[in-house]
Amino acid sequence: MNYKDSSQIQDYLEFLNQSPTAWHAVDQAIQKLLKAGFSELKEEESWQIAPGNKYFVVRNGSSLCAFIVPHQTPISAQAICSHTDSPSFKLKPNAEFRKENMLMLGVEIYGGPLLSSWLNRDLGLAGRVVYTDPNGKMQTELIRLDDHPLVIPQLAIHLDRQVNEQGLLLNKQEHLAALAALDYPTSIPYLEIRVREKIKHCDRLLGTDLFLFPLESAALTGFRQQMLASYRIDNLGSMHASLTALLGSQNTSNDHLKMAVFWDNEEVGSETAQGAGSPFFSHVLERILLALDCGREEYLRLLRRSCSVSVDFAHALHPNYPEKHEPRHQPLLNKGIVLKANAQQRYATDAYSAAIIVKLCQQLNLSLQKFVSRGDIPCGTTIGPIHAGSTGISTVDIGCPQLSMHSCRELAGCQDHLDMCLLLKAFLEREA
Ligand code: ZN
Repeated sequence: MNYKDSSQIQDYLEFLNQSPTAWHAVDQAIQKLLKAGFSELKEEESWQIAPGNKYFVVRNGSSLCAFIVPHQTPISAQAICSHTDSPSFKLKPNAEFRKENMLMLGVEIYGGPLLSSWLNRDLGLAGRVVYTDPNGKMQTELIRLDDHPLVIPQLAIHLDRQVNEQGLLLNKQEHLAALAALDYPTSIPYLEIRVREKIKHCDRLLGTDLFLFPLESAALTGFRQQMLASYRIDNLGSMHASLTALLGSQNTSNDHLKMAVFWDNEEVGSETAQGAGSPFFSHVLERILLALDCGREEYLRLLRRSCSVSVDFAHALHPNYPEKHEPRHQPLLNKGIVLKANAQQRYATDAYSAAIIVKLCQQLNLSLQKFVSRGDIPCGTTIGPIHAGSTGISTVDIGCPQLSMHSCRELAGCQDHLDMCLLLKAFLEREA
């Protein structure tokens, strides 16, 4: 298979390149949904919902829930869940400071990035800004500043002689500020000027959520382009596969809701107003039923008949560190979707929810790889258990395998992504 010619892979690359932050990813999703005939519902307004129609709801600009309403009263929901954020560096509120003739930007760590991967790279700034326009009206806008790259320079080996033997130690306060300019005039605020260059009607900058991102584009890599390298593969790969599945799914069932939900803030624990720990999903689901003249009892009955699949990346076997994997659970790139399990319920998978995925993979002739972490290495977690715990919906955790997780240049297999698109589409179309 020549992945370069796959329209799905090309669309995936484009999605990665256009989504440096969670807000940009949701904005990309909105464009795709509108093009496919979905209508937006606002949480603060009253909802009119028609059977057979397609809708989406956005919270905070960084979380989104899309759904297709069945022709009859829904008795169950099938939801694909993923997250929109990735580990990064966020600009501090008073970010600008000087060291001799160098203008620096101070950053805070968002989530758990592999810090060293951010050194010596061309970096841009992206996120959202809130400002007043010349009429004094408050506006919010997405912004992407990529025309004057920043860099976090690493200390030369001559000044850090033991670095290759003892490892790189980075102090999060002292060693990670980004170099923005030399001999920049002290009288001109750097960030405000950069924002005004992009947003002409910005009168006063009131607030920013700005993150660093690597400027290097997503690219196919390896022999015959079997792999894909990019920032934010975790979890834009899952988001792209979920959107592809939802947009491509046929309206096969008359009485189940097809849903795809994308939450922000997984990398910082999900307990935010728009994260998986918030009532966003439950509110949307209950309001769908209320708008269809169903009562709370029908909503609670529907929860018990529903199931969700939580899609997030899994650790592929690292060729240079094979001892880090459980000997009989070693997912490989391009060898299939990974079914993740953990006895402590750091993943929500159980025999019942796993069986749904195993059966679908059998029907589609897709290979499936099972993952459990080594007994002596703590297991990561994701949105699956949080979603299952807050809604009571049976949930399974799956994902594509990847290398270099949480670096700013992650690596994944192209075939696994295409498999995931197929599996998620089949999950939405299955008869509950
Ligand atoms: Zn993730």
